[in-house]
Amino acid sequence: MKLLGVLGGMSWESTAHYYRLINRMVRERVGGQSSARLALWSVDFGPMAKRIGADDWEPIRTELMDASKRLADAGAGALVIATNTMHRFADDIEAASGLRLIHIADVTAKALARLKVRRPLVLATRPTMETDFYLDRLRAHGLDPVIPEPGERLALNAIIFDELVQGVFTDASRDYVLDAAKTAWARDSIDSVILGCTEFGLLTPPELFRTPAVDTTEAHCEAAVDWLLSPDP
Ligand code: GLU
Repeated sequence: MKLLGVLGGMSWESTAHYYRLINRMVRERVGGQSSARLALWSVDFGPMAKRIGADDWEPIRTELMDASKRLADAGAGALVIATNTMHRFADDIEAASGLRLIHIADVTAKALARLKVRRPLVLATRPTMETDFYLDRLRAHGLDPVIPEPGERLALNAIIFDELVQGVFTDASRDYVLDAAKTAWARDSIDSVILGCTEFGLLTPPELFRTPAVDTTEAHCEAAVDWLLSPDP
């Protein structure tokens, strides 16, 4: 089996979920005692989260580029960045490591295409919802992504940084996320939802939504396992 590099710890709550999902999928597909060959680089998310809040991105970019080189040195043949937000540096990380990057927005767009929907509500961190790196990547796949209103974006961002990445999962926040999707259905004519934060699937799994929903973590893990088990380089 090939070796997959995982750039994680953003947060470890979702990275632990990636680890379980990828290993479970390998066992389901291969059987027996099989498990995934992974090299994990896990960051300290405390300082990083503060920098995100302060809009101080350059140290984050250099830390992730450096970490990706270490995964290449460890022998990884491809890379996943286990967070949507840090895909803002996808091109830099791919170039620094020389590794093929399995891009979370690409695999999410493919999952939406399989569901035959094209106007998803993107639920994510503020940087993911409000910066073009993510929405443009979805648009390149022919999608017409919608983001929540400013007040909703603030509230969703607070749920992610003040709760989910700290391991706090509440009924009130679950209801808030589901309500945001319901509102957008009526207000913005969305036809689907992207759980565009790698912790959201732990709070509100896709089956809780009335609309078709894609959990970016699940889609990313499926694609990672496709690569791990394929003969392609
Ligand atoms: N895991 C989250 C995401 O998918 C948020 C944490 C981060 O800023 O990386 O975007």
